[in-house]
Amino acid sequence: MIKFDKKAMQKFNEIPDDMKSMLLSNVYCSNCKDMVKIVNFEATMDRDNLVLKGKCENCSGKVARLIEG
Ligand SMILES: [Zn+2]
Repeated sequence: MIKFDKKAMQKFNEIPDDMKSMLLSNVYCSNCKDMVKIVNFEATMDRDNLVLKGKCENCSGKVARLIEG
């Protein structure tokens, strides 16, 4: 499941589509020690930055990605 709060959704929609998929499929997983796809994430804003917190597609470990605003 993917959840966005209102501001995070606005911010995310400003990102071009090809960039979105690139961002979502290049998240570092410390468990896999590799770039993985983030799944089941929640998106929130931390000041001007978009923060995605979710799980690694491979190992279901916690991963997070900050997209600077
Ligand atoms: Zn992983």
